[in-house]
Amino acid sequence: MIKIEEAYDIVINSAVTLTTEKVEFNNSLYRILAEDVKSDIEMPPFDKAAVDGYACKSSDVDLELEVVESVQAGQTPLIKVGNGQCTQIMTGAPVPEGIDTIVMVEHTEKNNGKVKVLIKSTKTNISHRAEDVKEGQVVLQKGIQIKPQHIAIFASVGYTNVLVYKKPKVGIISTGDELVEPNEKPGLSKIRNSNGHQILAQVSAMGAQAKYFGIAKDTEEDTFRIVSEALSESDTIILSGGVSMGEFDFVADVLKRAGINILFDSIAVKPGKPTTFGVADKKFCFGLPGNPVSSFIQFELLTKPLLYRLMGLNFKPVEIRLPMAVEYSRKRTVRKSYIPVLIENGKIKPIEYHGSAHIHALNKADGIISIPIGVNTLKEGEIVDVRQI
Ligand code: AMP
Ligand code: MG
Repeated sequence: MIKIEEAYDIVINSAVTLTTEKVEFNNSLYRILAEDVKSDIEMPPFDKAAVDGYACKSSDVDLELEVVESVQAGQTPLIKVGNGQCTQIMTGAPVPEGIDTIVMVEHTEKNNGKVKVLIKSTKTNISHRAEDVKEGQVVLQKGIQIKPQHIAIFASVGYTNVLVYKKPKVGIISTGDELVEPNEKPGLSKIRNSNGHQILAQVSAMGAQAKYFGIAKDTEEDTFRIVSEALSESDTIILSGGVSMGEFDFVADVLKRAGINILFDSIAVKPGKPTTFGVADKKFCFGLPGNPVSSFIQFELLTKPLLYRLMGLNFKPVEIRLPMAVEYSRKRTVRKSYIPVLIENGKIKPIEYHGSAHIHALNKADGIISIPIGVNTLKEGEIVDVRQI
């Protein structure tokens, strides 16, 4: 039995980043950027009005100003503003030459066609040329996950053909004679397959390419058949169930028969002790536990970082540090425990949780917290990291 931290290191150190491809920028959401992006222009490209108002010399704000011209965004000012004069200007329009201030329209009044400044401000209300970005400046760095705000930056610098890492192809297999698919009502001794579909969703939510290969019967032959099929089409396969010590838990044996080198099959973690991981020739295999909470948490802790690493991203989960609302304690401390929690009024509240089959415990969970090996109590008020899910 190894520690979860060791399991994480084994998984991450075995990952190999996939090759790259070009995609149209509007189709690049949530992909991982595979090169630095530089701006081909300055931003702003000219001194620009940041407000609607009157452009004048700051030394003239005590005078009644004559309006010589009106300029809107997209137009170019044509008339030079002299002493005692101003140009009416709209947000986004280029500032006339020789002007060092724009008085907000709200701070002025008009008398007989002349502009009087009522409130004087030290703000120039001018966005200066290249103050945001210089030409050639790196505006987005290789390795980021592309979000909607990055699409705006691609658009603004004309980077329309985006170099991204390829999506891992992930094959998902459920195992167990007791499983029926969700559209069936389970008969006696049967349960619905929730895991396979949960994993499918977890993989898809990351922007990887998920394919479901169905339910393997609890026989070595059937499991081998589906594993071989999934391996031939995938970079990574994820099985659930069949990794415990039961008579019909064949997954580790089947993976070995399929040429996979098992790197670990037991972790000092709860839930998820029998989580199994193996590799072969740039293929990665996870045997996640059958219980849905175990499977969900081990996917978060181990599978997600691997898939992101294949996609070129160093995944760092968002963790926030908050105090415990109540005391939490456990009896056995030989494994590191993860438990689902709520965040209420800035404090952490463990959710009623009946164990790793209790899928509904995750329904309202904001995150998970962990209790280290050897520790049995988290005291009320103790500050703990919440990993958001
Ligand atoms: P196993 O490791 O195969 O013995 O499975 C452990 C527990 O998880 C058993 O109670 C299984 O019925 C349950 N289980 C296995 N696979 C799934 C699944 N795909 N969806 C929901 N529960 C499952
Ligand atoms: Mg089983």
